[in-house]
Amino acid sequence: MSSTYHQLLDATIQHLEDLKAHGVRHVAIASETLRALAQPVAGRDAPPGRPMEVPIPKADGPAARPYQKPTLLPRAPQSDPSAEQPALLSLPGETVAAQAPLLDPQAKAAAFAALRERALACVKCPHLASSRKTVVFGVGSIDAQLMFVGEAPGADEDEQGEPFVGKAGQLLTKIIQATGLQRADVYIGNILKCRPDTPGQSAGNRKPTTDEMATCIPYLHEQIDLIRPKVLVALGATAVEGLLGKTIGITKLRGTWKTYRGIPLMPTYHPAYLLRNQAMSEKRKVWEDMLAVMEKLEMPISPKQRNYFLKP
Ligand code: URA
Repeated sequence: MSSTYHQLLDATIQHLEDLKAHGVRHVAIASETLRALAQPVAGRDAPPGRPMEVPIPKADGPAARPYQKPTLLPRAPQSDPSAEQPALLSLPGETVAAQAPLLDPQAKAAAFAALRERALACVKCPHLASSRKTVVFGVGSIDAQLMFVGEAPGADEDEQGEPFVGKAGQLLTKIIQATGLQRADVYIGNILKCRPDTPGQSAGNRKPTTDEMATCIPYLHEQIDLIRPKVLVALGATAVEGLLGKTIGITKLRGTWKTYRGIPLMPTYHPAYLLRNQAMSEKRKVWEDMLAVMEKLEMPISPKQRNYFLKP
């Protein structure tokens, strides 16, 4: 599964969503193109040479089903891949699926455990492997419908082997709880699984380098492909950069839906930013992003929740 493939897929989805936002409901695709792109949909072919009308999928398509707490309502067993498998596009020269195949719960847990073992033993960044105390793989439900992605572990996370357990993490936990969910209902991961080293410094953090991100991101890709959350939340500019390759400021990006490997992604501020800037207006922005996430997941929202961080 190449990253070029996913970039193309995400760009196509983004383009269709932009068209839809401008009122377009159908796009014309030559039947040859469809045949070349998507064997599984070839059965819906148009007569040769005539463009075929393809309805633009609802932007809130797969995420529009009501939120189901993974611990209370596990998804139906996925032992029959043909039953729920999305149509897979195979581009010329690519033999890969858009995501890992749907697995039954046991196989999924086993695949996740194997991935974890691989990540825990990783020494691809020798400088980080020698400076880290733990590999911070990720935490939460592997059936989560909502997944948060941060930047990299800090000192507390490196110590405890769990993402977002320091001050910023405690704030993230409060944000999650404000939606009515618990930490255990969601999945939390990072772009980098090792704490970025700070040689010669006894404290402080540094941003992961481009190389470190590129080296580590395949683990996160695999986590996302196995979990298949309905919504991703990217916490801060580095998470957006790692996932989308965009280096545009988070101030511009936050609050606007993006797509990552076909999954709706909401960029928002990192909780560490909210700790530095305690203004109510900034808290409200993050909360508005979370309200959009809750709406996408069709979670219930009370009037009280709607009004959090609004001036009385
Ligand atoms: N900040 C992050 O981005 N990730 C963590 O795990 C902790 C703090």
